[in-house]
Amino acid sequence: MNVSVVGVQWGDEGKGKVVDIYSKDAEVIVRYQGGNNAGHTLVVHGKKTVLHLIPSGVLHPEKICLIGNGVVVDPAVFFEEIDELVEAGILKAKNEDGRLWVSERAHVILPYHCALDQCRETYAGSGKGKIGTTSRGIGPAYEDKVARRGIQVVDLLYPQLLEQKLVRALEEKNTLFQSFFKREPFDVSEMLDYGLKLGERLKPYIKDVRKDLLTAMKQKKPILFEGAQGTLLDVDHGTYPYVTSSTTASGGASPGSGVSPNSFNEIIGITKAYTTRVGTGPFPTEVAGTPDAPAGEQIADLGKEFGATTGRPRRVGWLDLVALKYAVEINGLTGLAFMKVDVMNGLKEVRLCTDYLIKDNKTQDFPSCIDDCESAKPVYETLPGWSDYDASAVHKREDLPQELQDYMKRVEDYVGIPIVLLSTGPGRDETLLFSNPFKVASSKSV
Ligand code: GDP
Repeated sequence: MNVSVVGVQWGDEGKGKVVDIYSKDAEVIVRYQGGNNAGHTLVVHGKKTVLHLIPSGVLHPEKICLIGNGVVVDPAVFFEEIDELVEAGILKAKNEDGRLWVSERAHVILPYHCALDQCRETYAGSGKGKIGTTSRGIGPAYEDKVARRGIQVVDLLYPQLLEQKLVRALEEKNTLFQSFFKREPFDVSEMLDYGLKLGERLKPYIKDVRKDLLTAMKQKKPILFEGAQGTLLDVDHGTYPYVTSSTTASGGASPGSGVSPNSFNEIIGITKAYTTRVGTGPFPTEVAGTPDAPAGEQIADLGKEFGATTGRPRRVGWLDLVALKYAVEINGLTGLAFMKVDVMNGLKEVRLCTDYLIKDNKTQDFPSCIDDCESAKPVYETLPGWSDYDASAVHKREDLPQELQDYMKRVEDYVGIPIVLLSTGPGRDETLLFSNPFKVASSKSV
């Protein structure tokens, strides 16, 4: 049984929690795109752990965690997380228990990638050209990959090859650094030394991850594919150019891990009960500057809407059903995980965006043109809100306040798929699982 989970908004939907919950029933957990620009916050028994690169399933003892070829790996960040997890007794040093593996084919983020990111963001200033990246070198590493001058993890074990590749990678960049950004160039031999040291430390974690996945599938082991960021940040289908550099939609799980496209039984989309966005870019249902701003303030406040990786405050708005339906289609979702409903408790009224008005035309189609997306005016349906309730006394959907049940039903009717998980707080136990994707009798057998 292979289950894929993806964020369906602009990221920060609470994927960490969902992956953590589903990991209980998986044996293998795989990340397949993005880098350490994703940040998953997990709260287990009241203890908070933030993971940027290592799959969130790691908190479950004995699960195998894989970082697929589609991920860009900053080894320095990887080791920081390992050190923390080793200290907490979650992982064994030097991968002695063989729980964590990185694909030989994954691309490496090196200091010059981060420098390029930072130079560009500084150059763009605070103007419209600013994409709002996390400046962690993710974009430049993906650029190098596509331009065929990237460094793969396996290269760190081959000094001669690494040197040749570094020369090629730095030739153009150093010209850019010196002449355009007026910054010091990078020295090939220093980078070589740095890369080989990383390789030495990374060696116990490097593997042909694709082969392990194939074996696990043949053995019918349950596998969880963990997406990062969100569908509206997808490089093809998101609000381009305000997107990330990888395929965040579920389709990316196949090339990003090496399994075939027909490998997935269930694809669960994770959405908040409202919407947030970090950084620049269109956001039709944003409430700042509208009469609903106070509701947004409650949501931002109770939802602690600050990025796990960057600490940047998130922009807040109502749930956008036009965007959600688009995400259902792009990802082929079979169910929704509906997160952070508790944050909306006590609001007198809640709104759902059912249409956009673009140049006076009402539409339910998510626009391709960024200017249309910027100018889209949300058309809302207003529903009564639900008052605060004792979530610990709720064991099934019918126990929820009627208004919340109605809100969920309207969302399901609009997008055409069921809510399979409801999250009413950050903790593992603050969750209602209506159906478990690893246990559903799927019509598809892989
Ligand atoms: P991710 O990148 O998608 O994993 O999202 P983040 O970790 O950046 O943000 C999710 C935040 O919401 C984390 O701090 C979680 O602990 C928290 N969270 C997850 N589910 C819920 C929920 O149902 N209610 C509340 N109040 N917080 C939640």
